[in-house]
Amino acid sequence: MNRRLPVYLLIDCSESMIGQGIEAVRAGLHTMLGSLRRDPHALESVCLSVITYDATARLECPLTPLIDFQEPQLTLRPGTSLGAALSLLADQIQFEVRKTTYDTKGDYRPLVLLLTDGQPSDNWRAPLNRIGAAVLPRPANIYAVGCGIDVDYSVLQNITDVVLRMDDMGPESFGKLFVWLTASVSSASQGVGEAGDGSINLQKLPDNIEKVETPAESLEDGPPRQVFLRVRCSVKSSPYLMRYRFDSLAGCYQPSMSHRLSEDEAHAASEGKLPDIPSDMLNGAPSCPWCGNPGGAQCGNCGTMFCADINGSADVHCPGCHAALSRGRTSGQNQGFNLKQSGG
Ligand SMILES: [Zn+2]
Ligand SMILES: [Zn+2]
Repeated sequence: MNRRLPVYLLIDCSESMIGQGIEAVRAGLHTMLGSLRRDPHALESVCLSVITYDATARLECPLTPLIDFQEPQLTLRPGTSLGAALSLLADQIQFEVRKTTYDTKGDYRPLVLLLTDGQPSDNWRAPLNRIGAAVLPRPANIYAVGCGIDVDYSVLQNITDVVLRMDDMGPESFGKLFVWLTASVSSASQGVGEAGDGSINLQKLPDNIEKVETPAESLEDGPPRQVFLRVRCSVKSSPYLMRYRFDSLAGCYQPSMSHRLSEDEAHAASEGKLPDIPSDMLNGAPSCPWCGNPGGAQCGNCGTMFCADINGSADVHCPGCHAALSRGRTSGQNQGFNLKQSGG
């Protein structure tokens, strides 16, 4: 039996990946599979598994030879349960990776590629200890890639020595990342034979990715860097997500942008809850991506948040309970109510 090179992709599918981020990851994964399947070394040895994490961790695909691998559907939900993902990873490595015995060589050391764009929303220390304790020495070559500007790098530095950062989350940037990952997996699948160690060559990092060399400051005690609110358009009734970024100078959240959601995405997003956020922490609202309304309001009747033209004159109907709401009851921010936060 061939020795296998197990490759685990841990992909952050929290809401903060919405928009360009998740689209680029889907495209990157697709291209990666196509390239690796044309590579005889990779085809012979690489087995791939995908684990995603949001409010919980999911085994999208168990360890599968490239030829049989089916691309998973990646769905976004609130939350960034990195701890749950590490715990699942530890389980899978224990179940799936063949150990070397007296008379057979086991699999090569697994290659773990961890992608995240934010801060964990669960306890990740205990699961991390499990990975270390369960399968020493050096159970896996773990490479962590932080994407975007809201990553807690100190967490990643606890997980592995190899922490990479990619600030730009545009499609081109992700494209380069996946080309590099593909080349790395491919060369690991050739190199394992001699060195017995499927580690990645970091010399060939693309220009948009750098290795984080200095210890990063922990963000764990501060406020979340981003918050998300689930909203419905009061004109079209369609769902969307408001993204806010913490402004440390002003001590509040500034509107960043809005993203349209499908009804399926809105449904998925309703799983998983974080604590409410006081509306006085939010400075305004990003405009509605469906109708362009410049503000937001919350229905006093059912709690639904919806887009509103806060200076307009027309009465609105709540897209949640259909109650007719008069201007006084819908006025936008600064009402002192608590808004339901969706996770990051
Ligand atoms: Zn609207
Ligand atoms: Zn309502």
